[in-house]
Amino acid sequence: MTSGNGCLNRAEGAGVTRTRFAPSPTGFLHLGHAYAALTAHHFASTGEFLLRIEDIDRERCRSEFETAIFEDLAWLGLDWPRPVMRQSDRMAAYHAALDRLAPLTYPCRCRRGDIRAALSAPQEDALPAGPDGLIYPGTCRGRPMSDAQPDDVIRLDVARAFDALGLDRLSFRDEAILPVEDHGMTREEFLGGIGDVILARRGMGTSYHLAVVVDDAAQEIDLVTRGKDLFDSTWIHVLLQRLLGLPTPRYHHHRLIRDDAGHRLAKRDDARAIRHLREDGATPADIKAMVGL
Ligand code: GLU
Repeated sequence: MTSGNGCLNRAEGAGVTRTRFAPSPTGFLHLGHAYAALTAHHFASTGEFLLRIEDIDRERCRSEFETAIFEDLAWLGLDWPRPVMRQSDRMAAYHAALDRLAPLTYPCRCRRGDIRAALSAPQEDALPAGPDGLIYPGTCRGRPMSDAQPDDVIRLDVARAFDALGLDRLSFRDEAILPVEDHGMTREEFLGGIGDVILARRGMGTSYHLAVVVDDAAQEIDLVTRGKDLFDSTWIHVLLQRLLGLPTPRYHHHRLIRDDAGHRLAKRDDARAIRHLREDGATPADIKAMVGL
């Protein structure tokens, strides 16, 4: 297990900090989740650590995984206020946010194959991709929301969003690297590297991006800690915060826990699931040592 430098930098200027760990109950927690949860908990040592269950994907989420999340985190020694926020209870809040953004959104009927064909490159790996996969070429852009069909997705017209804000550049503060750095992304970089993001997925009524922004604001999270793999998604969140008039929290994108081959752990890596390590006799201290803490 490669863990790199285990030190957690102190969040600069952190007074009372409210953080969260926001897992999706689609599998058992693994060592990467343990590291993420312990990191969020560490930064909230003078504030509050919240647990949020991100279960908008009803097809993949299972209650037994949710139960396992509570058990594994408690076993690791973490505590959090109850009851926890569960995204499946929050659809009205996501719909309200989507309604506010409606003047800047459009319904999109394109499937993956349509997008690939419109981008017309011979090989998938030659196609432009961002944090959500292929950069949408804008085929449905301009379709009115009144045209929306039940199996359409809803996309944000990013160029119009920047225009509406009168903004050329987004920025946020990442505290994972010292000295603390402000990161910036121009409108052109966003259009070329991320594109018109999906705000409501087919049959879901929201997307991870919209839900996380609405919930971090509702829970008054002032330091978002999460893995570096989500760094590019943060641009989407900062844009949505601006559009919805919500505060942008501080961010701490932490290192990822990798397996011996250097791959990021995934939920299918059962051998590194906390509960299996527990069954094999590992202690919470062993888990901390395994993730370099
Ligand atoms: N629910 C997301 C996940 O399990 C994490 C969301 C976040 O930290 O913003 O990957």
